[in-house]
Amino acid sequence: MDKTILPGSTIGIIGGGQLGQMMSFCAKEMGYKVIILDPQENCSAAQVSDDQIVAQYSDVDQLVELAKRCDVLTYEFENVDAAAINEVKKYTQVPQGTKALKVTQNRISEKDFIEANGFSTVPHVVIENIFEYHRGVEKLGAPVILKTIRGGYDGKGQILVTDPENVCYADIEHLLMQGPCMLEKKINLEKEVSVVVSANSKGDKSIFPIIENVHRHNILHLSTCPAQISEKSAQHIYNVAETLAEKLELVGTMCIEFFISDEDEVFVNEIAPRPHNSGHLTIEACNISQFDAHIRGVCNLAMPQVELLKPAAMVNLLGQHLEPAKKELSQHPEWHFHDYGKDAIKENRKMGHITILSDDLEKTKQAIENNSIWDVQK
Ligand code: ADP
Ligand code: MG
Repeated sequence: MDKTILPGSTIGIIGGGQLGQMMSFCAKEMGYKVIILDPQENCSAAQVSDDQIVAQYSDVDQLVELAKRCDVLTYEFENVDAAAINEVKKYTQVPQGTKALKVTQNRISEKDFIEANGFSTVPHVVIENIFEYHRGVEKLGAPVILKTIRGGYDGKGQILVTDPENVCYADIEHLLMQGPCMLEKKINLEKEVSVVVSANSKGDKSIFPIIENVHRHNILHLSTCPAQISEKSAQHIYNVAETLAEKLELVGTMCIEFFISDEDEVFVNEIAPRPHNSGHLTIEACNISQFDAHIRGVCNLAMPQVELLKPAAMVNLLGQHLEPAKKELSQHPEWHFHDYGKDAIKENRKMGHITILSDDLEKTKQAIENNSIWDVQK
């Protein structure tokens, strides 16, 4: 059993992006010391932490150095090397273990795991070459989406095939050259939703209210909570969250993404074994945030019942949105403005977000929709 890590102790975080930064804010507020390991000097998380080890995530010597200097080790992203984690476990407590990492690092094992627990995933086949691609398209029926098995995020490593007669085979070959791929049936989405769940080493859980998500170009654009879905779908989603958290022996925070089809079927899309972009609104909208819950979980503290204090909308600030949003900030007392402090502003890179608490979510969504900062062409 993991021991309880009390304030005053040191938390090591592998990865220094916005998720590590928001974890660190919560840890610091409670009185922990935080050390970040990230290759980029003065990364988002290091700006708000006690110290940083500048090193690649795969640098086992430096991971061991971090482990020796901290009382508990956590990570902010899923592409951590499970073998390296096992190595550093000799030096410090790593309560999250590697099970959730191993299952979710690979789209095949992830979908197999979801199905083995009795939950639906979208129809899919694994393909290794063009011949299998053709067979897959025939079996599933267009439109389909081809996805890399590993390492995809924000829609990267994906090809949408709407018309199989009119595809760029070079793109498909290019993806296949990186290894086996997953071909998925493209679902007519009524809605996308997600649920965040956190746990400590004793298995006590905090489950957050379901969040509704709108993507643009496969990148999360807008999240709102509570989600407008049927009671039946909500019950199913909470059941999935509890079951998968138990089966993954969850410690810390994870998020499960769902598709709800136009025929009201609920499919599990993917599992992120870490805090999630859609859960950022929990910072202002709930009694504890997904980051508080993560810190509590990995430190084996008590896990509170989550309450939604007020409905909320969160809109992402990508590279192209940041400057226009800053210009308007002084006109928006309702904005909870978050800038992650990244130095390189790139198009479509997540730079920050804004959360708005509101008793009239429809009006708030409309205001975001009508604001030129998030014009579709941007
Ligand atoms: P990532 O790892 O990049 O988040 P996802 O598989 O979650 O990859 O895909 C990103 C987005 O693309 C989804 O949130 C959804 O909007 C859209 N998408 C992905 N797969 C499907 C599908 N099978 N049917 C319909 N939309 C999909
Ligand atoms: Mg996703």
